[in-house]
Amino acid sequence: MSKYVGAHVSASGGVFNAPLNAKEIGAKAFALFTKNQRQWKAKPLDDKTIAKFKDNLEAVGISPKQVLPHDSYLINLGHPEEEKRQKSLDAFIDEVRRCEQLGLDKLNFHPGSHLKKISEEACLDLIADAMNKTLEVTENVTLVIENTAGQGSNLGYKFEHLAYLIDRSIDKSRVGVCIDTCHMFTAGYDIRTKEAYDATWQTFDEVVGFKYLKGMHINDSKPDLGSRVDRHHSLGKGKIGLDAFRFIMNDPRMDDIPLVLETIDESIWAEEIALLYGMIAS
Ligand SMILES: [Zn+2]
Ligand SMILES: [Zn+2]
Repeated sequence: MSKYVGAHVSASGGVFNAPLNAKEIGAKAFALFTKNQRQWKAKPLDDKTIAKFKDNLEAVGISPKQVLPHDSYLINLGHPEEEKRQKSLDAFIDEVRRCEQLGLDKLNFHPGSHLKKISEEACLDLIADAMNKTLEVTENVTLVIENTAGQGSNLGYKFEHLAYLIDRSIDKSRVGVCIDTCHMFTAGYDIRTKEAYDATWQTFDEVVGFKYLKGMHINDSKPDLGSRVDRHHSLGKGKIGLDAFRFIMNDPRMDDIPLVLETIDESIWAEEIALLYGMIAS
């Protein structure tokens, strides 16, 4: 079985440090921010930085396919106010271009929030429109929609939301989804027993389709099933428990995609990665 497990590593000091940080914890995949995720503006990537990133990635033996960059938390492609939505779209397109420059083929993003000012459907339409505008002016990068816990007015907590966005996409070869286990669980999708796990993923396959699964975030959950609260926990310490992660590690449908830890204690990421690999039945 070919599983690519890693974590959302630091890119502080420069994006080229991320592959080295991944290597240090025994990761075969990783996520990173290609700019400061709490600021709108970023200085453009220069040629030296780009070359160094590609060199380091090759040196640690991680394929660009196993890198899942995450966009800034400030971006809301479904913002009800035009001016703020445009600001988000501009920043989003810039992030896609940074991925292109780094030779990466995916950008993971949270769909957006209606801020209780417009309906869920109107907000999803705005997000779909922003995705299409991005697809028109960029190339090679797949827009990877993350499912959410549904906290506040965040959309993406139902598989139907993800399917709605894919349906409206002008280029379905460049859209995909990233499923976060904590978010799916707190959104109400149980994966704790084999029966629940199988039923949840069958629903996923019927509503979205496994061909769109481009990555996963591997997190345990502090809050309960269906609580719609987004609080990650270390593996085995939360409400999901270890069995669900054992099912994933032995499920060929999760082969060949980045499986990225965003668990809360980064000092044990190396142990968590080893724990996950150790779960694979030989
Ligand atoms: Zn996540
Ligand atoms: Zn989360």
